[in-house]
Amino acid sequence: MSKIINRLAIIGVGLIGGSLARALREAGAVGSVAGIGRSRANLEEALSLGICDEITQDALEGVRGADMVFISVPVCAIPSVVAEIAPSLKPGCIVTDGGSVKTAIVRECEALMPAGCHFVGGHPIAGTEHSGASASFATLYRGKRCILTPTSHTDKAALATVDRIWRVTGAEVCAMEPGHHDRIFAEISHLPHAVAYALVHAVGTADVEGENVLSYTAGGFRDFTRIASSDPVMWRDISLMNRDALLKSIDGFSASLAELRRRIDTSDQAGLTEFFTIAKQFRDGIV
Ligand code: NAP
Repeated sequence: MSKIINRLAIIGVGLIGGSLARALREAGAVGSVAGIGRSRANLEEALSLGICDEITQDALEGVRGADMVFISVPVCAIPSVVAEIAPSLKPGCIVTDGGSVKTAIVRECEALMPAGCHFVGGHPIAGTEHSGASASFATLYRGKRCILTPTSHTDKAALATVDRIWRVTGAEVCAMEPGHHDRIFAEISHLPHAVAYALVHAVGTADVEGENVLSYTAGGFRDFTRIASSDPVMWRDISLMNRDALLKSIDGFSASLAELRRRIDTSDQAGLTEFFTIAKQFRDGIV
């Protein structure tokens, strides 16, 4: 394949950034990859795994000469990272990200772009509960969706290039408005993580005659709560950055749980069957 990007800089060489670099390298779509991060240990791991050609903890140095910068650090850090690197970006550079929240990031990063540089918001819908360069793998995005969130300010050619790199990873690319993205992901991703963390928190602190109840958990509990093993800092940041949409989703869920509680409390057999049947139909309808 002919190269799409000559020099790619990845800031935050973890699961998301490392997997993008691996997929693009495997496809021969990038010339060289510079890995940028805070800890030397993770960067050295990325270098030894062949994810990057060079590594640095100096973001200004690392992005110098890059045609594209991909930012995959926790969401609250993305605008400050963009502010830091802005003076070092070469004209024509495309800056894009993989953050799970889009409205605030896109608004702030677009405003931070120097003249001639372009920001394109993105969010690959793929992941695991593991973090760091060692958790990354080239096939993470294959068959998964990647959402791009252009605005009226987005440069069309930059958008087309970002679209192309995600297609190279095997992802299906679609576009939507940042606020629409945040409302959808509050429901289908941020709420489930909040519920999983809250559930494990409640069960882990439940007092059942001094028993360690978690030691009795089996398949169902483990499947349902897998995502509560995700990185707490990442989920702190996502919860705060998508605060309004997530609070609305939590309110909707609380109302649903209260309704379920009411039907259990009143031994409402028909009501419970109806509640579970409707939920089962929704779940069975997910392809
Ligand atoms: P990760 O594996 O923990 O990687 C994040 C990387 O960023 C780490 O290598 C970390 O390395 C570095 N980092 C953290 N804070 C930083 C900062 N302030 N400045 C510079 N580097 C920093 O996390 P991830 O799962 O790849 O997530 C990265 C982004 O992708 C997040 O914005 C997240 O919302 C998004 N995302 C995640 C998933 C998922 O399921 N995991 C899915 C889609 C999108 P050091 O600690 O060494 O700096």
